[in-house]
Amino acid sequence: MRDFSQDHRWLSINTATVRKSHGQEQPLTDIIEACARHGIRAISPWRDQVAASGLKAISGLVKTHGLKLSGYCRGGMFPATDAAGLQAAHDDNHRAVDEACELGATCLVLVVGALPGALAGQAAHKDIARSRQQVQDGIGELLAYARTSGMPLAIEPLHPMYAADRACVNTLEHALDLCDLLDPAKSGALGVAVDVYHVWWDPKLQAQIERAGKQRLLAFHVCDWLTPTTDLLNDRGMMGDGVIDIPRIRGWVEDQGFNGFSEVEIFSTGNWWQRDRDAVLRTCIERHRSDV
Ligand code: ZN
Repeated sequence: MRDFSQDHRWLSINTATVRKSHGQEQPLTDIIEACARHGIRAISPWRDQVAASGLKAISGLVKTHGLKLSGYCRGGMFPATDAAGLQAAHDDNHRAVDEACELGATCLVLVVGALPGALAGQAAHKDIARSRQQVQDGIGELLAYARTSGMPLAIEPLHPMYAADRACVNTLEHALDLCDLLDPAKSGALGVAVDVYHVWWDPKLQAQIERAGKQRLLAFHVCDWLTPTTDLLNDRGMMGDGVIDIPRIRGWVEDQGFNGFSEVEIFSTGNWWQRDRDAVLRTCIERHRSDV
């Protein structure tokens, strides 16, 4: 297992972590400049942030600073109620692959979606099996396209509390079942993003990480699970402030040969997004050394 205590060369910042500073939305260009100042070598930006600054401007800035992208957030949201909805998701996902290529991302992260309409507050139906089939079909189709552009797809299983509205793939086991079905050759074109926030509780976690192996482990996301958690989405903790044994999980992932970045991904309306961006980045660097 790599020693992170001496430096932060393997730290990546998911740009949602510093999306806000003092409660104010920050342009991605400023976030990238700040990461570069702090000697951070990798980021993982969100599509809405990239779109707000312009894809060309961001890809230029990434190249200027020699930054790596540990991932690109995100594609997915496959399920829909009708053909037009499925087609819209299809088209949007193809654009996401193209953007990920332009930015030179390691992988496109997939949050697969769940019951159509649920995210907006009103699920169109209760048939989660139907959504799961649409997810399988959608990933299969997108994989064919992503292969032609050489962009790996990383399925991110989300914690079961998001099964209705964000992702109906909720365990690493389920994500790997999809990988085995759609990419039985383990070509490297399809794998998983292991986010400790989503999977830390799973009694099968170690076994499934071993099952994934290096070929399927495309991204590793860290933050912490706070007790109590006051918001289902935007109350993620800084590494070391919660109950997740992050070094243990990182050890399992690295035992399989994973040697990529450790990506800090914290959504925190009430705490970290209220603080000063540079102070948050300094804390990320410290905790990366001490608690990852
Ligand atoms: Zn994540």
